[in-house]
Amino acid sequence: MADTTPRPAADHTSPPPAGHVVVRERTLDDRVQDDALKHVVANLAPLQVLLLPLSLLVAAVMRNDVSEQRLSIWVATAIAATIVVIITCTWVRSHPVVDRTTHVLAATALMSVGAVAGLSTWVAAESALDVEMMFTLFPAVSLAVGTIVCAGRRDMFLAYSIPLTATAAIGLVSTGDTRMQALAALYVGYGLTQLALHHTVSRSLLASLRLQFTSQALAVRMASDQLALTDAYEQLSETNARLAHLASHDPLTGLLNRRGTLECIDELLSNGDGPVALLFCDLDRFKAVNDLLGHRGGDEFINVLADRIARTIETGCVAGRIGGDEFVIVLPGHDTARAAAAASRLVGVLAQPVHAEGRAVPSSVSIGVASAPHHGGSTSDLLRNANAALYRAKHAGRNRVELFDGEMHQELQAMLESEQALRRAIDNGEIMPFFQPEIDAATGRVVGAELLARWLRPDGTMATANEFINIARKAGLLERLTERVFAHARPDIRRLASFGLPDGFRFRVNLAPSSTDRSWRNNPLDELIRGIDPSLITVDVRESAVVADLPTAAATLAAFRARGGRVCLDDFARGVSSLSLLRKLPIDEVRVDRHAIDTITAHPHDRAIVRSIIAVVREIGLSVTAEGVETGAQADALIALGCVRQQGHHYAKAMPAEQFEAYLVARQAEGYAAAQQQNADWTLDGLS
Ligand code: GH3
Ligand code: MG
Repeated sequence: MADTTPRPAADHTSPPPAGHVVVRERTLDDRVQDDALKHVVANLAPLQVLLLPLSLLVAAVMRNDVSEQRLSIWVATAIAATIVVIITCTWVRSHPVVDRTTHVLAATALMSVGAVAGLSTWVAAESALDVEMMFTLFPAVSLAVGTIVCAGRRDMFLAYSIPLTATAAIGLVSTGDTRMQALAALYVGYGLTQLALHHTVSRSLLASLRLQFTSQALAVRMASDQLALTDAYEQLSETNARLAHLASHDPLTGLLNRRGTLECIDELLSNGDGPVALLFCDLDRFKAVNDLLGHRGGDEFINVLADRIARTIETGCVAGRIGGDEFVIVLPGHDTARAAAAASRLVGVLAQPVHAEGRAVPSSVSIGVASAPHHGGSTSDLLRNANAALYRAKHAGRNRVELFDGEMHQELQAMLESEQALRRAIDNGEIMPFFQPEIDAATGRVVGAELLARWLRPDGTMATANEFINIARKAGLLERLTERVFAHARPDIRRLASFGLPDGFRFRVNLAPSSTDRSWRNNPLDELIRGIDPSLITVDVRESAVVADLPTAAATLAAFRARGGRVCLDDFARGVSSLSLLRKLPIDEVRVDRHAIDTITAHPHDRAIVRSIIAVVREIGLSVTAEGVETGAQADALIALGCVRQQGHHYAKAMPAEQFEAYLVARQAEGYAAAQQQNADWTLDGLS
C-alpha cells in the first residue's frame, strides 16, 4: 500500500527506500485547486433535483412540436446525468480529501450535464425553425451558467463546455439550414468567448481562495506564535521569580539571606506599624562542629538548626541566615519582653543535640535581642544593638539570651578596639614565645618545655594566651598569631639546641585550634617546624583537630614521627574523649587535661578517673604527662599514680627564652652538684 504520510519536500539527500512512494508535499496552489473543485461540485448540487424536472417539463410542453423519440433520448440523457451528479455530490460529501476519483466523477458529471444542454439543438433539429431557435437558448444559457459554476477549474470548464458546444454545434449543423449552420459556427466562437470569461472569473476566485488560505495559515501561525509568546512570557516570569528568590534567599537553608533579611527589616520599620524585635543568633562553638564533622557535615548541621528555627518561630515572623553561623529572626509586633520569651524558647529548642554521623553532636546558640523603636529606629541601629547583646551573651557563657542595654554598645566598641590592638600587636612583634619547663618529678630533671604565647605590651604589662585567645579567635587572627609565635621561637630553639639540651629534651608545640580548620592535606606540621630538627619537637594535637580527617591526620603525624618527632594527644579527659583514638592515631604520649588535675586531690572520683587513664595509657605502652600541676599534693598524687612527667606552676612558670636558658643552666648545675654530692656520699659510705 502506498505510504501517504506527508514528508518534508526539502529532504533530497537520500533516495527513498525501495517500495515506498514519496508523496509530494501539497503546495498552496494544490490546496487552492482542490478547494475550487469542491466549489464546482457544490455548485452542481442543485442539479440533483433540478435537471430532471426541467427536462421533463420541457419534454411535456414541447411534445407536440418536437420529435417524441428525440425528446425521450434527451430525457434519458438527463436521467443519466442526474445520477452521475448525485454520485459525485455524495462522494465529495463523504470524502473531504480531493483525490483522483473526485476529479473523474466531477468531470464525468460536468460532461454529462454539458451533453444534456448541448443535445437540445439536436432534439429540435427536425422541428420548425422558431422551435429550433428556442432550443438554441438552452446551450447558450447553460454555457454562461457553466462559466460561473466551473469558476477556478479550467479542466472542469473544458469537461463541461467542450461536449456542450460540440453537441450543440452538431445539432445545429444537422438541421441542414445554412442559417443554423452559421449559428453553429457562432456557437464555437461563443464557447471560446466563455473560455476567456471563465479565465477572468477563475482568476479572481482563485485569488480570493488563495487569500483565504493565506489568512487562515496566518491566523494559525499567529495563534501558535501567541501560544509560544505566552509560554515564553511565563518562562520569563518564572526565571525572574527564581532570580529574585535566589537574590534574597540563602541557597543552603532556604531562609532569607543577608540582603533579604535587611530588606525585610527595612520594610517593616518603614511601615511604622507597631514594634519590631530582632533576635541576633550565633551558634556556639560552631568551628568545633566543623572540625568534628567536616565542612559538609557543618553545612548539614546548619541546615538542621535552620529547619528548627523555621519551625519554632510564630506565623508572621521571618528568619534569615545573614552569615556563616549567624541567623536573624525578625518579630513584627513583638516588644522586648515578648521577643525575649521567644528567644528563650529558641535557645531551648536549639540546645537539643543534633544527630549526625552516628553521634549526638552538642548544639547551642547565643541570642542578642533588640527592638524598635526602643533600641533604635533604623535597620543598622537595631542590628548593631542586637549584635552587641549577642556579644554579651557569648561572653556571659553562651547558650543564653541577652537583651540590649545602653552599656553594651560600649562593650562592643571595646571589643572592636581589643581586636584592633591585637592586630597591631601581632604586626609590631609584641606577641612573644614563652617557655614553661616540664619536669621528671622522680628525678627533678628538666625534660622539656612547652611553647606558650604571651602578649608583652609596650607599657610593660603582659597578657597570657588565655586572655587574648578569644579575641584572636573572634577576629580570625589565630593562624597569624601562631605563625608569629613560632617565627620568634625558631632562633631561640636553635640556639638552645646548639648549647646542649638535656638528653631526651623536647619542645612541646600546640597545633593552634585554628590550625585544626586547615586541612591536614596541606600538612600544617611541615610549615610549623620548618628549620627545626623534628627530634627536638613534641607536637600536641587535640581530638577535635584530627577527627574531621582522621586518615590524613594519622598519615601526617606518622610521617612526622618517622622523622624523629613525637606526637602527644592533648587535653585527654576533657569532655568526652574517645579511647579509640589511642589506637587509631600514631601517638607516643597522652597529656591529661589540667581540669582533671585540678581536683585530683579533692575528689576521690576524679582521682580514680585519672588513675584509670594513666593505667590504660601505660598499659598500651604510651607515656603520660600532666599539665597544670599547682601544688605539691597534686604532684605527689600524680607520682603515686605513676605519672612522673609534670608541668605547672608548682615547678616553674612560663618564661622568656633568655630566662629559660638561665633556668636550664641552673637546673643542670644543680643536677650536677647533686650527682657530685651523691658520688661523695657513696665514696664516704664505702670508706666507713
Ligand atoms: P562562637 O561560640 O564564639 O560563635 O564560636 P564559633 O566557633 O561559632 O565561632 P564563629 O561564630 O566566629 O565562627 C563561625 C564559623 O563558621 C567560622 C567558619 O569556619 C564557619 N562557617 C562559616 N560559614 C560556613 C558555612 O557556610 N558552612 C560551614 N560548615 N561553616 C561555615
Ligand atoms: Mg558561632
